[in-house]
Amino acid sequence: MSVYKCLNCGKEIPLEEAKKRIRCPYCGYRILLKKRAPIERKVKAI
Ligand SMILES: [Zn+2]
Repeated sequence: MSVYKCLNCGKEIPLEEAKKRIRCPYCGYRILLKKRAPIERKVKAI
C-alpha cells in the first residue's frame, strides 16, 4: 500500500484521497510526494 505525503505540511494522504484530487486536503498544497510502504528488513548480526 502506498500513500502520499504533502511536501508542505508533511501529513500523509491516503491514496484514495490523492486520486480524487492531487492536492493536500489539510493545507491545499499541490505537490505530493509518493511514499512507498516501508520495507522491513531484518539483518542478523552473526
Ligand atoms: Zn499539506
